[in-house]
Amino acid sequence: MSESYVIIGDGVAGSSAAETIREEDPEADVSVITDEGEALYNRILIKEFAKGKLPEAPISIHEEEWYAERDIDLELNTFVTDVDPDAHEVHTYDSGTFEYDKLLVATGGTPTQLPVDNSDAEGIHHFWTFQDARKIQQHADEADTGVVVGAGLLGIDLAAVCAAQGVDAKYIMRGNRWWRYGLSLDGAEIIHDALEEKGVEPVFESGVEGFETDDDGRVVSTIDANGEEYESDFVGVAIGLNFNTEYLQGTGIEEDSGIVVDEYMQTNVEDIYAAGDITRYYDTILDQYAQNGSWGSAKEQGQIAAKNMVADGEEEEFRWVSSYSITHFDFPFLSFGFPTLGDDECERKYSDTEWRRLAFKDGKLVGGVLIGDIAPQGRYKDLIRKEVEVADQKEVLLEQDFDPDELAIPQEQ
Ligand SMILES: Cc1cc2nc3c(=O)[nH]c(=O)nc-3n(C[C@H](O)[C@H](O)[C@H](O)COP(=O)(O)OP(=O)(O)OC[C@H]3O[C@@H](n4cnc5c(N)ncnc54)[C@H](O)[C@@H]3O)c2cc1C
Repeated sequence: MSESYVIIGDGVAGSSAAETIREEDPEADVSVITDEGEALYNRILIKEFAKGKLPEAPISIHEEEWYAERDIDLELNTFVTDVDPDAHEVHTYDSGTFEYDKLLVATGGTPTQLPVDNSDAEGIHHFWTFQDARKIQQHADEADTGVVVGAGLLGIDLAAVCAAQGVDAKYIMRGNRWWRYGLSLDGAEIIHDALEEKGVEPVFESGVEGFETDDDGRVVSTIDANGEEYESDFVGVAIGLNFNTEYLQGTGIEEDSGIVVDEYMQTNVEDIYAAGDITRYYDTILDQYAQNGSWGSAKEQGQIAAKNMVADGEEEEFRWVSSYSITHFDFPFLSFGFPTLGDDECERKYSDTEWRRLAFKDGKLVGGVLIGDIAPQGRYKDLIRKEVEVADQKEVLLEQDFDPDELAIPQEQ
């Protein structure tokens, strides 16, 4: 009898898992269940759509036919309500029950709402789906004034949307700089200058106290932590993700701000795997549990999980150095590995638009941020993968044309 694989979530993790299962097992029954109304699209590119810079078509990755051609059952608009691991069943809101031999959980997260008055008012946007992007694109096109909240990698996308759509926007940040966990003030100032050049004004040491609305319940202004009121007919909030795990209550699957999996993407419950943003996985490079929120990592996890779900014997481990780039400015920006971890660091500013920071843990490079020149990324990522101790050679590492051959690496490493 053929094996039955059920995948919950048709993001890049779920979809690439389905593709890999089909490649590995031509006879298997494969179902992909998603509560979204469209098949896999490029989540990275929806910001370009929201900016008004890209039409819809190139954002789609797979049409529904893609699944049919591979004999993969795609269930759109289908919300999973619970999983019964003993019966090996997935229950949905109104599309019945799916039986599985192996299950993959790839349901990612949902943006967190601000815990303040009127945070669900009309005109306040969160950014995760293509549907969100359509609403944001349309609204930003009509709006005159805006506020963006959340000084991270998604918040800056909303700031860039305001800039591209000519919205006069304030960008509210908690500390004294953008992405304070990854950047020093020196590095962040390059981003602040670039934001201001595009018409977005950063507001530091602030936060949101609440929103004022009109009689129709539409947001009209934002009150910040210092009592300032900013006119804002458009508001974008990106303060983090809540992982979509509610439907797993009662399954016994271990969670720790995400679903805990080993390096093979397997949960503690038999026949259930997880992949993508939702996982807290065992990182074999760091030798500790870690989390990634990036496209490349989610895709790789989906593929590794799929291979291990099908494998009868030797398993493949997830070993990956992730990266995340931002392309809103005249200069490139790239974060790689785990720049916010570590016990040691070094940084250097090379020019008004070029800066670099490297983070080390136990003497080894674990991550970094490159602004202006991202060419050395491959060389740094290679050092991370090889787990060599280089923290005592910061001068060599920070040379503008960093050459790994100039590092003194002990033979035994
Ligand atoms: C605007 C934006 C810009 C980004 N830019 C970058 C970038 O530049 N570089 C980068 O590397 N990453 C970027 N990311 C992050 C990247 O897109 C994610 O890390 C990646 O898409 C995660 O994939 P995933 O498959 O794990 O989860 P998701 O893509 O979130 O897919 C999960 C799916 O599961 C569905 N689902 C959830 N619960 C249920 C349920 N109960 N029943 C059925 N279906 C359910 C969801 O609706 C969703 O379709 C960006 C993300 C956004 C939103």
